[in-house]
Amino acid sequence: MEDNKIHGGISIELEHIFPIIKKWLYSEKEIFLREIVSNACDAITKLRRLVSLGQAGGIELGEQKIKVLLDEKASTITVTDTGIGMTEEELQKYICQIALSGALDFIQKYEGTEADVQQNGIIGHFGLGFYSSFMVSDTVDIITKSYTGAPVIKWSCTDEGNYEITPDYEDEEGLIGSFGTAVVMHINEEGKEFLSSYRLRDVLDKYCAFMPEEIYFEDLNKKEEKPEKGKEPEAPKPVNDTHPLWLKNPSDCTEDEYKDFYRKVFSDWKEPLFHIHLKADYPLNFKGILYFPRIGSEFESLEGQVKLYYNQVFVADNIKEVIPEYLLMLKGVLDCPELPLNVSRSYLQNSGYVSKISAHITKKVADKLNSMFTQDRKKYEEIWRDLKTFVEYGCLRDQKFYDRVKDTVLLEQTGGEFKTVDEYLEAAKEKHENKIYYANDKVAQSGYIKMFNDQGIDIVLLDRIIDSQFINVIEQNKEGVKFIRVDSEVADDLKGDGEIKELPKVAELLKKVAGEKLTVKFDRFKDDTIPAILNVSEEGRRMNDMMAMYRMDGMPLDETLIMNLSSPLTDKLSDEIESGNGEAAETMARQIYRLAALSQRQLSSEELVDFLKDSYRILGMIN
Ligand code: ADP
Repeated sequence: MEDNKIHGGISIELEHIFPIIKKWLYSEKEIFLREIVSNACDAITKLRRLVSLGQAGGIELGEQKIKVLLDEKASTITVTDTGIGMTEEELQKYICQIALSGALDFIQKYEGTEADVQQNGIIGHFGLGFYSSFMVSDTVDIITKSYTGAPVIKWSCTDEGNYEITPDYEDEEGLIGSFGTAVVMHINEEGKEFLSSYRLRDVLDKYCAFMPEEIYFEDLNKKEEKPEKGKEPEAPKPVNDTHPLWLKNPSDCTEDEYKDFYRKVFSDWKEPLFHIHLKADYPLNFKGILYFPRIGSEFESLEGQVKLYYNQVFVADNIKEVIPEYLLMLKGVLDCPELPLNVSRSYLQNSGYVSKISAHITKKVADKLNSMFTQDRKKYEEIWRDLKTFVEYGCLRDQKFYDRVKDTVLLEQTGGEFKTVDEYLEAAKEKHENKIYYANDKVAQSGYIKMFNDQGIDIVLLDRIIDSQFINVIEQNKEGVKFIRVDSEVADDLKGDGEIKELPKVAELLKKVAGEKLTVKFDRFKDDTIPAILNVSEEGRRMNDMMAMYRMDGMPLDETLIMNLSSPLTDKLSDEIESGNGEAAETMARQIYRLAALSQRQLSSEELVDFLKDSYRILGMIN
């Protein structure tokens, strides 16, 4: 050899690695930074440990730090650390052999499952350490000096897998201080986007915001701004918070700290409703903070964000395999150092550890809801509209969650009061046992609501899409209980006394104007101002609602028009028919039917045109 360099042909094995690494170009290239920076963190942590064990040969720790240096002109991103560094032997072993064998294991496992590698982001999330730097680099250098005092060495490897090692490397740039490591990535075409200071900062903020060692970012091409006269140049600040709030003891955290943390992490200026600080010890051993965001509307609420960390290193957002789906509507951070990350999604789904985490979180969330409910019912009612979608969705998805929170589920009544399901049923016992009357549109159904309210029956307001499914959960769990919409049944209490007779000619005429499918019934209501109401069956309507959710056309609903024999208008209609006043009778019948239909559903455009025409004609008759 002409020089003292050691050349290595990375054998057959490395050849397999680089094509696989390149495939990741399509998934999440950005994780390379997390991998390299977290290695740097580990290197410092290891050194701290050695020093604390007195095994670092009298080394005194100064300020240990990591630097991320961007040099757009030179197309390099460099990560330096003041950690333990590596001797040549260690470099051979950890980078050339062990790291490789780890990578090979990985490849063997996923060989032939290319789709899995590309589509299942999770693999990208959990990386393969150092070698992920080749996703964005055509050459990577490692310049390192072991804390043991061994000379600086440089290892340089191309994306073809050819490397060379320079022992006794002259660190002219001074990347390494007394000891530590610098990883210089010579960025390739695919990695160009990371040569932007904004983009790189973004990735740092995303993955490294809570790593345990201080990280400083420097854009080497940016001209130093001259400090104003008389002003001290500001000391650079680390980009990360090395002691995130979730690691602290809940009793040492203030409300303001929780709120600040929420604002910072989620850039959400709306204050959260409340939080839960999770701290599970052995054997689960995970920590985190979950926030209930303020929910403006039903749809907004689905946009939660639960960030998963592994020892303060960000892994990914919203991993369904780890966190029950309905909890993803919340915002929060979870740090799970025991999570077996180097595994596939299906493993996570079936892992006992993961299901225990889920169960633990579910219990904590339910406990919190219960304690808020019992400690301050008034306040709980105030935030119920914000909580409701989450709680109902949780109940729909998870029977255990329902069992835990069922006593804190509130029903909002159209008058504005709140009752628990049991409270409502208790109050209803005499008048309408086991029946919960509800409206889903306070305005459109106001006629029905008033009729019920006048007889002392409270109507529950279920006006969100999820409500229509949630009532099934209650019906399934509470035997005999039935939810009935105000326009599907005439409650017994609404009915007045007096003879009930059929008026066949009236029925015939109504069918003539409304269509043969209409069922006409006669009854007597306490309220005599309403000539008729239109009902549709609860079952039929629910079926249609469900079809609509799947964007399918439902069946035309069977309508029943109930004529009120107490109403003078009913008598009048009958009289007009009897006295052969055909045209007037028909107008009346049509108008009665449409007015009843109006509070039940939207009129079709034809119906509406006719309805308006008739109404104007009737106006003209007023004298
Ligand atoms: P992992 O971090 O999962 O062990 P990597 O491929 O990222 O796998 O790294 C392999 C090994 O190389 C590490 O375990 C460590 O021993 C060594 N190493 C990597 N980066 C550094 C560094 N900045 N300082 C010291 N050692 C390092």
